[in-house]
Parts: sequence; C-alpha cells; structure tokens
Amino acid sequence: MNAFKIFSENGMIALSMRDNYEHRPQQIEMAAAVERALDTKTHLLVEAGTGVGKSLAYLVPLILWARDTNQRAVVATHTKALQQQLVDKDLPFLKRVLGDFRYALAVGGENYLCLRRFDQLRMGDLYEQNEVEHLNRLFAWSAMTRTGLRSDLQAEPPASLWAKACRQADLCFGKDCSFHRDCFYLRAKAIEQQAHLIVANHHLFFADMATGGNVLPFHKAVVFDEAHQVEEVATDYLGFDVTNFSVRYLLDGLLSQRTRKGLLTRLTVQDHEVLVIRGMVDGLRVVSDNFFLNLHPFLQKEPVLRVRKRNLVPDILSEPLLELQDALLAVSVENHEEELEVKAFAARAGAMALSVRVNLEQSEEGFVYWAERENQRYRLVASPIDVADTLREDLFGKLETVVLTSATLSAAASFSYIKGRLGLDAATELLLDSPFDFQNQAMLYIASNLEDQKAEDFQEKFDHELRSVLSVTQGRTLVLFTSYGQLRKSAERLRKEMPDLALLCQGEMPAYRLVEQFKGIPNAVLLGTASFWQGIDIPGDALQCVVIAKLPFAVPDDPIVEARMERLKNPFFEFQVPQATLLFRQGFGRLIRTKTDRGAVVVLDSRITTKSYGKWFLRSIPKCGITDKIEEFRKFFEGLREK
Ligand code: SF4
Repeated sequence: MNAFKIFSENGMIALSMRDNYEHRPQQIEMAAAVERALDTKTHLLVEAGTGVGKSLAYLVPLILWARDTNQRAVVATHTKALQQQLVDKDLPFLKRVLGDFRYALAVGGENYLCLRRFDQLRMGDLYEQNEVEHLNRLFAWSAMTRTGLRSDLQAEPPASLWAKACRQADLCFGKDCSFHRDCFYLRAKAIEQQAHLIVANHHLFFADMATGGNVLPFHKAVVFDEAHQVEEVATDYLGFDVTNFSVRYLLDGLLSQRTRKGLLTRLTVQDHEVLVIRGMVDGLRVVSDNFFLNLHPFLQKEPVLRVRKRNLVPDILSEPLLELQDALLAVSVENHEEELEVKAFAARAGAMALSVRVNLEQSEEGFVYWAERENQRYRLVASPIDVADTLREDLFGKLETVVLTSATLSAAASFSYIKGRLGLDAATELLLDSPFDFQNQAMLYIASNLEDQKAEDFQEKFDHELRSVLSVTQGRTLVLFTSYGQLRKSAERLRKEMPDLALLCQGEMPAYRLVEQFKGIPNAVLLGTASFWQGIDIPGDALQCVVIAKLPFAVPDDPIVEARMERLKNPFFEFQVPQATLLFRQGFGRLIRTKTDRGAVVVLDSRITTKSYGKWFLRSIPKCGITDKIEEFRKFFEGLREK
C-alpha cells in the first residue's frame, strides 16, 4: 500500500468519501513527499495553501510507515482546534479507511487529577474554606471520571485548587506511588506506549525535548503542523524565569501562609530541623516580597524592561533559596514517598535560585534578559535569542524525519528565512498552492491615502476609511489590528457612528465565544489583534471581508524581537519584512476557507503599494483582483449579495 494509491481517484479515500471526494493533486504530491522523507530518513518543509487537505496528506504516510516498521511518530499542532480536528475527525475516518492502527492524544500531565495529591489535599486539610464546595464536586467527579482529565469536568474548579490536586512531574512517584494502579496519568501513558501515532501540541513536544524525552514515548519522526509557530514555542522552553508567584507557590506547598499546613506539617518526624525549616519558609516569604518589590521602580512606567546590565537589583533571594534546598535535603524522612517529595521541593528551590542568579548575573551567552510586571505579578526572564543551534542538534540532529508544514512558511517563495531561524540546514522543500480559485473567489482592496502612520490626522483618516468599508459590507467583517490601543480607539468611534453594527471586540469575552457570536450575527464586525490573525477559522458566508489595519511588523520594544534584530546587518529586510509577510499571509488566509467561500481583503495601509518592500507582501498572497477604488470594492460586494 502506498500513499499515492490511497489518494488516487480510484483509491481507498475516494471510495470511502464517495460524493464528498475531491481530487487534489497538491494533496497527493504532499503525501508522496512525506512518504519519501520517512523512507529516506530526511527532513521536509511543505507550505500547503488552504484547502490542500494537508492533515490527511501527512497522516496517511505516517500511519503506513509507523505500522509497517512498527515505530512511532508524533504529530504536533499549535492550536487545540487542529488537535481536536485530528483526533475527532481525521484519525477516526482513517481508521475506517486504513484498518487497524493505534493513536493517542497526549496532553500535559498537569491536566490529570493526581489521586495521591488529591488524597493529601482532602485528608491533610490543605484546602481553604472557600474551596470546600469545589473540593466536594471534584471528589464526586473523581469517583466517576474515566479519564481524570480536567477538560472532562462540567465546571472548572478554581486554578489554585486544581494546582493542588493535579499531577506535577516532579511530585509524581510513578510505579512507586501507592495509587499507581488507579492512576489516570499512568493509564494514559500506557496507551501512548502502544500507539503508532501520538497527537500532541508544540508545547508538549518541546517540554519533552527540554527534559531529554521524559514526557512523550520514544519516537523517530515528527510532523509539526502550524509550523510557523515552532520558533516561539521552542524559545519559551529554553529559557530561565522566576516570578514572585512561583516562589510563593513553592513556599505555600511547604507551609501554606493561610492554612499553616503543607509538606512540612505532614512529615512523620517533626523534629527540630523541621521547626527550623518552618522558620526559614516564613523568612523567605519576606525576602521574596522585598526582592520583587525592588523591581517595582523599574517597571512603574512600562510593564516590560529590557535589562542590559548585571545585578539590576541586589540578589537577596538566591542564597536563602539554596539554604532552604540544603536544609530540606538534610531532613529525616520515614518512608520513600516522603523522601521523594522532600527531594522534589528541594530541587524546585535549587532551580529557582539558579534562575535568579542567571537573570541577575546575566551568565548565559546569547541570551536576552528582561523584567516584566502584570498587576501583582513580577517576573524575571532570560531567553535564548536564537534557538537555531539547539534545534539543529536536539531536533533535526536526533530525529530521523522532521516534517514542518503550514499554510505560511515561505517569504517571497523562499524558505531561507524559516530554515535560518530554526537551524534546519538540509531539507526537501515543497511549495503547494491552494487549490481554491482566488481570481474568482477573492479581491484585494487597498486604501490609497493611508501611508503616513505618524501624521496627526492618521487615526481620523483611518476611521473614515474603515467606516466606508463597513458601510459596504454591513457586517460579516473581521478587522485585524496590530495594537490594542488602535483597536480601542476605532471601536469607540464605530460604536458612536455606526450603531447598527454589532461590534465584537477582543478582550470583552473569551476569543472562542466572540467567534461563536460572530458566526451567528449577520451584521457583526469582529475586532481583534495578535491571536486573531492566525487561529480563526470561519468558513462560509459568516465571514466575507477581512480588514488588515496595518502591515504587521514586529515591534522592536519586545526584548526578544529587539535582541534578534540587533544581531543582523539589515534587520528590517532580514527579519522584520519576512516576519511581517508571514503574519500578513496568515491574516489574508482567514478569508477563503472553502472552495465556495467568496469575499474581499482590505488593506488600510498604503505602504503596501508605495514602499519598495510592499511587493514582498503582494507577491506572497494568491493571485486575485486588486483595486484601490472603493467603487470597485462596492460592486464586488453587490455581486456577492446577488449570488
Ligand atoms: S502515579 Fe503520579 S500522577 Fe499517579 S497518582 Fe501517583 S503521584 Fe499522582
């Protein structure tokens, strides 16, 4: 059996789908390329436009390879929505088509109820009075649930309560745990061990890589879908950070400030050493508060500060944390479980001390350092500026086959940018157009008078142009901003001047609810920033217009962006333009999701035609009609309504 035959017009997929089958040469080409990469143990980059059917194109060869060679592969997605599509729709369908194979969805351990910690929580009175009701519900659920997964709960318990009851890697005793026979997490791991294919998210994949393979079962191949996000997620896992909340969480686990209970009060031997450690914990609370308060003057004006010099604040925290670590390791324990738990807390204290030192001494080469504040939470962060060397060695150097795929991986038809960022030196490259007919399905309208973004009357002109567009579309429009400030200003004005439109703004409710409401209201206009450029899928008539408020250049006031740009000779063309082009294409890609969708993209940033770099953006999107005349845009929409 090979992928080509399975996807052909008389193949198994066509026979199973019957009238719903669409012959897509791009899909067959992609499946054959994935099959070749697995057979030859090489890496592959595939950009596959919307509608290629890329998930089936990589799943089929992966399943055949894993089944034939009795090996395991991982598919890692960025979004939960795609993960659900794979597990709820694509894989059950392929099971009917291809016959028997085994797959499993892997989620982070903290999503599982830990029976041991939950028992401790209840029996040791480690909860607070206002948590009793939730605790009782959790108890009733724990007796009935088959998965122990938080997502199976009807109503989510408060995060603070779940944190005390969920599985935590360093507090999990595995086979040594007295609850291991009934453990939800171990049961899930056993199923993963039997699977040919594991579906996970990027975060879990890199957590596995960062811990040397302690999270996922052994595998030789991985497909990253939504691979344009890989660099950001990998960066998150390769740094050092410490917050006042994480220190407090450590200390409360040992001896809660409110309940005065914790690991220290549960230990069988309550000797002088334990009493001393209790004093240390209380002392550390004060030290930690002072340490993070010392950051406050630096974060008063701006919530994020790039730290360029060593010892921004005095290091009063790392030494007491190390003393706590030593004291914990010297404590007398009565049994193996106590020993494991004490060691885990000691290791946490040691890791926090290390994070504090790395941040203050700036001891890691090639890292960028910053401090940030969000309400009462203070954080010090050290992050690698480039992850290319690490990925070259630990990802591309260790796995036989890595496939990176997304609708947007190339800039100006080249993969050089993404390859350089990820440290991928050798890979087969494949660029597959969308099978959709963009010439007939879409048009691009570019406003011609919005070039000088710094002009005093820019916001005025922008709002005027946006109103003109919305008076044509009368809803069914997604407006993508690059800043929340501009979104708010425009929303305020639209609410006053176009009261008939149903305005839905990011931040007013969770994103998924905004999207659900948008789909159900014909005159709705959805205003979003950041995540709305990439994660939204609204097929059909509900979305007929996407407005791009501004070309999405990364702002250099983000410390990582700034540090990456500093390393380049021509950061604008080597970093900002390719990065903005990828995001622009993601935004453009929100419009046409099926072969029957029709609509327009509007760009309210005239630099796309007046600046030399504008052609990067225009060349990167599918060919379609372009106009700078609002009348033509109006006619296009009248045509849509007639159909
Ligand atoms: S094995 Fe780990 S996750 Fe399972 S109950 Fe024990 S400690 Fe909790």
